[in-house]
Amino acid sequence: MKINVTRTSMPSFEEYCEEIRDIWDSAWLTNMGPKHQKFEGLLCKYLDVENASVFTNGHLALETAIALFNFKPASEIITTPFTFVSTTNSIVRNNLIPVFCDIKKDDYTIDPSKIEQLITEKTVAIVAVHVYGHVCDVEAIEKIAKKHNLKVIYDAAHAFGVKYKGIGVGNFGDVSMFSFHATKVFNTIEGGALTYKDKSFKDKILKLRNFGIQENGDCIAFGGNTKMSEFQAAMGICNLKHIESCILKRKAIYQRYIEKLSNTKGIRLPNIDKNLEYNYSYFPVVFDGYKFDRDEIAARLAKHDIFARKYFYPSIDQFECYKQASFKGDAPISREISKKVLCLPLYAELPLEAVDKICSIILDN
Ligand SMILES: *Cc1c(COP(=O)(O)O)cnc(C)c1O
Repeated sequence: MKINVTRTSMPSFEEYCEEIRDIWDSAWLTNMGPKHQKFEGLLCKYLDVENASVFTNGHLALETAIALFNFKPASEIITTPFTFVSTTNSIVRNNLIPVFCDIKKDDYTIDPSKIEQLITEKTVAIVAVHVYGHVCDVEAIEKIAKKHNLKVIYDAAHAFGVKYKGIGVGNFGDVSMFSFHATKVFNTIEGGALTYKDKSFKDKILKLRNFGIQENGDCIAFGGNTKMSEFQAAMGICNLKHIESCILKRKAIYQRYIEKLSNTKGIRLPNIDKNLEYNYSYFPVVFDGYKFDRDEIAARLAKHDIFARKYFYPSIDQFECYKQASFKGDAPISREISKKVLCLPLYAELPLEAVDKICSIILDN
């Protein structure tokens, strides 16, 4: 049996069919229909945020989050290269310049102690990533942002359902982006959302999401089409009913990995901050001085039809298009971790016996 790094959690076929029945009755398939409205409301409740706007995918939600602020072209945004390329592309595609800050060695999020030295008169914002669902040092980042008058945008693609000190993670910064892609903890097939405190963003997003067209038919911004369809929203409504049990199942698998792999020299396991209510989204293992290196472990697993993922690899600054543009900033820790990290298979329906097999291949016993 082939095991991939993830497998999408789905409602039963019947449950989804029941949810989409009224779409047939109304023949309203997209453009902020009733499913879309209902799903946004349910999301606000689950994420414990005041405002949420849903999108056809996470990447376009993030592009829109950045576009909300009308930054002057060629302004600089401080971010990290230890992320999925979507984060950095969304900066560049807004005609802004990413400046790479290094990450912390303990949870791979942006290192706040290295941010200020990168700030110039061109800096307008910080785009930080809650890597693997581990929450950035939101307090330190807020302090720096206030002092230098910067906007803060969080890529919370990995952090659906996470709370920090009892606060939903979507409440930090000016805007947060969640991804509901099929490979994430929670999915709407493709999909994403922005959450934010400033109510005035709601209307702005409504227009940017729909070509920039406003009520009187006039076009007030160069918007694209980034709306979520009713079928995606229906999937979200179904999956939200199961999210808590899904996270609990992930937790059991996560704990089994910890149990089997802890106290092994050269294998560094993830560590959940005591202030977090975590979503068990990923199980990243860093092989550092172990008898096999990361690539050898991945190859050994692949021989057994088990496909772990080198995630994130490479560090974004090493991608051809980013090297060519020679963006500023240096991130040696990001480069080092990206060469040593491997995300092991983790999904709600992964049997514990499979976890045991994966661990025994890694431990070579
Ligand atoms: C998945 C992901 C995105 C993009 O989200 P999509 O819904 O796939 O467009 C952005 N950033 C990070 C960190 C991600 O993991």
